[in-house]
Amino acid sequence: MELLIKNVIIDESNKPVDIAIENGFIKKIAENIVAPADRVIYGEGHVVIPGLVEAHLHLDKALIAGRLPNKSGTLKEAIEVTGKLKSTFTKEDVMTRATEAIEMLIQNGTTYVRTHAEFDPSGGFHGFETIMALKDKYKEVIDIQVVAFPQEGIFKSPGTEEMMHRAMELGADVVGGIPYNDTDAIAHIDLIFEIAKKYDRDIDLHQDFKDEYEGQTIAYLCEKTIKEGYQGRVSVGHLTTLGAMPDAELNPIIELMAKAQINVMCLPMTDLHLGGRNDEYNVRRAVTPVRKLRDGGVNVCLATNNIRNPFTPYGNGDLLQVAMLAIPVAHLGGADDLHTTLPMITENPAKALKLRNYGVKVGCEATLVVLDTKDYHNTILDMPERLFVIKNGHVTIELKRQLTKNY
Ligand SMILES: [Zn+2]
Repeated sequence: MELLIKNVIIDESNKPVDIAIENGFIKKIAENIVAPADRVIYGEGHVVIPGLVEAHLHLDKALIAGRLPNKSGTLKEAIEVTGKLKSTFTKEDVMTRATEAIEMLIQNGTTYVRTHAEFDPSGGFHGFETIMALKDKYKEVIDIQVVAFPQEGIFKSPGTEEMMHRAMELGADVVGGIPYNDTDAIAHIDLIFEIAKKYDRDIDLHQDFKDEYEGQTIAYLCEKTIKEGYQGRVSVGHLTTLGAMPDAELNPIIELMAKAQINVMCLPMTDLHLGGRNDEYNVRRAVTPVRKLRDGGVNVCLATNNIRNPFTPYGNGDLLQVAMLAIPVAHLGGADDLHTTLPMITENPAKALKLRNYGVKVGCEATLVVLDTKDYHNTILDMPERLFVIKNGHVTIELKRQLTKNY
């Protein structure tokens, strides 16, 4: 064996098992495995989960919060401020910040990330190319999926359509889009499908982002997805309009979303910061209805979106922090709800990102995190430290610490 992990908890049964790893894959899971191994980790009853999956993140504009403030805290000012800052980004600057953000993810046990890398005619491909280079540089430690992302819109930013094609030719994994920030949301969606079909790629849209539901385009997106035979290949971020929608209108849309197998990336860190800014009292949460979507059979993920920038001036690149925030915000703390939260940062995004061989099961990739908690039910609540992060059988992160009590 390449690696043997002894005495760890891998599910809600809280029953300790050993995990044997060979050639980067999980070979055997059983009690008391006795086999020679290059390395043995003594788990001491700690919880092991599969590597965390970050389903929606902007590495290229991470860690710029201190440069120019977003004083109103609105989406409008966040876009304005970031637009000004973007013109100052150099390749070196993006490289430094994105590297720092990737290191934060890895140390927090994230081993897969889908990142939206943006471009527009005035800024060119600086950021995009840098992210593509980092994808290659870090491939042994974290799998990076790159979404070609036209943040400034396509029709309202002439030249962007050609850049979308170029980005796909440069190796983008997924076609991104932003119907809410373009002159014609429906035409925007149609064009994204045209590009996705040409390159046979999945789609991931910044679908909508407001406190009211009027003008929603998610129903159209579902119909288009089914018409094009793209079921299971389309993901949407934010989708805050649905949080404002009464059940009578919401339920048929959720049914349609389940039929179209749309994946939803709920982004509570950003949506809570920017949403409800015009509410004088009883300020809305402005977050997509996670429980209703989940109960309607939609694949729901929780993701970070931004780390310390005008859209989200906080965050440590830690998905457990996002999940902990979502528990009160999306009413996920109930007895029947809590256990559905961890999958929203593991299995569900793994499904959305089409990760193969994911999980703590025999035959799966040995990409695991050993957590400093001994009760599987408290995996999020304890906010445990990541003791070991293992990618394809290799220990990439190892926490060494010593507590000294002077009393
Ligand atoms: Zn985003």
